[in-house]
Amino acid sequence: MRLENKVVLVTGGNRGIGAAIVSLLEEFGTQVAYTYRSHPNSESNALAISADVTDSAAMAEVADKVEHKLGSIYGVVANAGITRDNFFPKLTTDDWNTVIETNLKGIYNTLKPIVPKMYERREGSVVCISSISGERGNIGQTNYAASKAGVIGLTKSLALEAARYGVRVNAVAPGFIETDMTKAIPDKVKEKITAEIPLRRFGKPNEIAWAVVFLLSPIASSYVAGTVLKVNGAYHT
Ligand code: NDP
Repeated sequence: MRLENKVVLVTGGNRGIGAAIVSLLEEFGTQVAYTYRSHPNSESNALAISADVTDSAAMAEVADKVEHKLGSIYGVVANAGITRDNFFPKLTTDDWNTVIETNLKGIYNTLKPIVPKMYERREGSVVCISSISGERGNIGQTNYAASKAGVIGLTKSLALEAARYGVRVNAVAPGFIETDMTKAIPDKVKEKITAEIPLRRFGKPNEIAWAVVFLLSPIASSYVAGTVLKVNGAYHT
């Protein structure tokens, strides 16, 4: 993958999909840093930095810290995200704002201090984590789907700008993945969703991590830019 000794930052790398990405990158010999909000991952040796993606000043400090401790950042995985689901009439303005602030503005805050430096160095790979909900919508997720559709717009636009500097920007759109985020789905609903997924199961965090590693790799995906890679068991084609 030619990712050994490259420096990659993963937001929300302490658990779920982010932790799987950190772990797989470590297997490839990558110099990994990750951010967390609640608690670091005790099983990882990667550089752990406490930072909230909604705090632009904190995210600028994260970029400085990573460059100071590990070196120039080659790759960024903008993964941190939340849900605050509800049917539209019951959705509060706070639920709307918090989800947009975290999932969309959080990616802006993450990339803002890093991407200009990638342009200067004429290399880099950015992977944003979107969602199947951002592609096809989902009941109870107007806020979340809007944020994740926004991530796709951001990714495609930034990819067009960044390509001339040798920087690739892509997104991964996971389907339903077994993490804390989907734990809250009632079993009955889970069964219904599973029956509709052609591969007949939820995905595992590691299966998203492989897609991310592919998109980060300067050899495996050297001509892939501005794309949204679906990893959803054929739930949405
Ligand atoms: P989890 O709930 O398991 O983990 C969420 C991660 O995001 C945690 O590391 C959490 O940190 C971090 N995070 C949340 N809010 C903030 C914040 N304000 N600042 C910093 N970090 C924050 O979710 P998943 O692993 O399932 O999701 C990872 C990404 O994948 C998200 O963007 C999600 O929307 C997306 N996704 C997930 C799907 C799924 O089925 N699971 C499907 C499609 C997309 P902390 O532990 O410190 O709170």
